[in-house]
Amino acid sequence: MNEVKKPKKSLFYYYGVVVLGILLFNILAMPYLAQQEIKDVDYGTFMTMTYAKEIGQVEIQENQILFTDKDNTTIYRTGLMDDPNRTQRLFDSGAKFESEIVQQMSPLLSILLSWILPLLIFIGLGQYMSKKFMDKAGGENSLMFGMGRSNAKIYVKSSEGIKFSDVAGEDEAKESLGEIVGYLHDPGKYREIGASMPKGILLVGPPGTGKTMLAKAVAGEADVPFFSMSGSEFVEMFVGMGASKVRDLFKQAKEKAPCIVFIDEIDAIGQKRDGRVMGNDEREQTLNQLLTEMDGFEDNTGVIILAATNRPEALDPALTRPGRFDRRIPVELPDLKGRVDILKVHAKKIKTQENIDYDKIARMASGASGAELANIINEAALRAVRSGRHCATQEDMEESIEVVIAGYQKKNAILTDKEKWTVAYHEIGHALVAAMQNHSAPVQKITIIPRTSGALGYTMQVEEGNHYLMTKEEIENKIATLTGGRAAEEVVFSTISTGASNDIQKATKLARAMITQYGMSEEFDMVALETQVNPYLGDDASLSCSVKTQSEIDRQVVALVKKQHEKARSILTQNRQTLDRLARHLYEKETISGEEFMSILKKSEQPA
Ligand code: ADP
Ligand code: ZN
Repeated sequence: MNEVKKPKKSLFYYYGVVVLGILLFNILAMPYLAQQEIKDVDYGTFMTMTYAKEIGQVEIQENQILFTDKDNTTIYRTGLMDDPNRTQRLFDSGAKFESEIVQQMSPLLSILLSWILPLLIFIGLGQYMSKKFMDKAGGENSLMFGMGRSNAKIYVKSSEGIKFSDVAGEDEAKESLGEIVGYLHDPGKYREIGASMPKGILLVGPPGTGKTMLAKAVAGEADVPFFSMSGSEFVEMFVGMGASKVRDLFKQAKEKAPCIVFIDEIDAIGQKRDGRVMGNDEREQTLNQLLTEMDGFEDNTGVIILAATNRPEALDPALTRPGRFDRRIPVELPDLKGRVDILKVHAKKIKTQENIDYDKIARMASGASGAELANIINEAALRAVRSGRHCATQEDMEESIEVVIAGYQKKNAILTDKEKWTVAYHEIGHALVAAMQNHSAPVQKITIIPRTSGALGYTMQVEEGNHYLMTKEEIENKIATLTGGRAAEEVVFSTISTGASNDIQKATKLARAMITQYGMSEEFDMVALETQVNPYLGDDASLSCSVKTQSEIDRQVVALVKKQHEKARSILTQNRQTLDRLARHLYEKETISGEEFMSILKKSEQPA
C-alpha cells in the first residue's frame, strides 16, 4: 500500500510555514529590532560639527549623510547638499569614512535575531495551530494538510441505543438480522461448528422503510460499535480519495471488531461498471477498494457489513457475488398491521388523545412508508400545537395524512364557481364508478379543498386489508374508476378539462402492465414483453420486444382504456340523478366522509 505517511506531510507543511515566517519576520520585525536611534539635524549643524572637528564617523549615502559624534554615542542624519568640498573638509576634520554606520550589531546576534528566533516562534505557533485545527475539524481532509489523508476521521457513530423493538413491523427482516446479532454476541459458537457468517448483507427496499434503523438496531442489540457512512460520501472529487476513505473505514472497523459497518446508498459506489459512464475512475477505484477490503478480511473477524440500497438491480455483480454481499434482506413497505405498529411506536413519543383509532389511520395511509408514517404523527402533533390543544386528536392525525400525502390546505386558492363544480363532479365521478362496480364504500373521504401540492380535489381510497393478488377484473375496474373523473365531466358538462392528467397516467400504466407484464391479453398470452427496471422506485419498465409488437401493444392499451372509459361513462349516465345529488352535496360541504357518501347513495338507489 502506498499510503502517504503523516510525518512527511507535516514536515513539508512546517517547512513552508517556517520559510514564510522568517521572511515576514525579517521584513516586518527586523528593522525595529536592529534600529539604533538616529537624530535628524540640519545641514548647518553638520557643517558646524565638521569645522569643530566633532565628527567621529561619517557615511555619505545616495540621498542622506549619516554621521556620529566623536564618542560614537549618537547617530545623526542630514540631507544632501550640493557641496563639492565636503569630502575634503571632512577628511581635514579627521572624520573616519565608514560604510555601515547603522548596522553595527554583532553578526552572531544578527543571525540569532533574524533567523533562529523567528524559526523557534513559528515552529511553536505551527504546532499549536495544527493541533487546534485537527481537533476542531476532526482531521477532515483538507487540501492544505495533504490529500487523501483521513486518518483522523472517526467513522464510528452512535447507534442511538436503537433496538429491534423500536423498529415496528418488518418481522422477516428482523428475524434474518437476529442471526447476525447472535453471531456478534458469541462468534465462538459459530466458529466451533465451522459456520461462517456472511460478510455483507444487503438491505433492499424503497426509501424510508427503516433500513438505517434496522442496521442501527443490529448494532444496538449486539451492543457493538456502529460504523456508518453513506455511499455518496465516498465519491470524492479527487481520484483515490474515496478509496483511501474505504481503507480508513475498514482499518478502524477491524480495530474495533466485532462491529457493524453500515454503508447507506451503496449504489452510489457500487453501480454496474458497464462503461456507460465514461471515465469515472474515482468511483471505480473506490468500488475496487471496497471489494479488496471485503475479500481481505478472513471469515469470522467479527466485522459485519450491512449496506442499504433501493436500486438493487443497479449494483455491480461483483458486489453481490458469494463472499461479498451475498445475503439480501428485503425491507418492504409496511402492510396494514405494520403501519398500525409503526404509528403506535411513533405516537408514543407525542401526547395523544386516549382513544385513537390507529387502524383507521393506517387504512387511510395505505402505501405510506415508515418515514411517512413517522412524519404523519409529527404533523399531527404540530397541528395540535397550532390549534392550542395539549394532545393530538384523531382529527389531527387524519388531517395530517392529507398534509403528508397531498400537501397543506391552500387557504387562499380561489376556484371559480364553475371550477368548483367541475372538481366536485370529477371526484364524485371516480367514487361513484368505484362504488357501482364493487358495491362497497369506495372512499374514506372526498374533499375539494385545494392542496398546496396542486391537487384541486382529493379522494382517499379505502383499502380493505391487504391485497396481494389482483384479478383481471379488478384491474379493469380500477381503470374504469380512474377514468370516472373525466367521464363525469363529459356526461355533465359535455366538455373536458385538464384535471385528469394524473388519472390518465395511472390508467395507462395499469393497462400497459396488464398486457406486457401480467399476461392478461389474449393475443400475447404469457409472454413477458416488459421488465420492470426498478421495482422499488416505481420507475418505468423497459420494453423487450420487436417494434411491430410494440405498436400492437400500444393499440391494445388504447383499446383497453377506451373500453373502461366507455363503461364508466355508461355507469354515470345510468346513475345521473345520484351523481348530481352527490356532487351537489360535495359542492356545498367541500368535504364528505365515506359514510355520508354511502348513505346518499343508498337513499337514491331506493326511490321511495
Ligand atoms: P431508510 O434507511 O430505509 O431510508 P430510515 O431507516 O432512515 O429509512 O427511516 C427513516 C425514519 O422513518 C426513521 O427514523 C423512523 O422514524 C421511521 N421509520 C421507518 N421505518 C420504520 C419502522 N419500521 N418502525 C419505526 N419507524 C420507522
Ligand atoms: Zn381524477
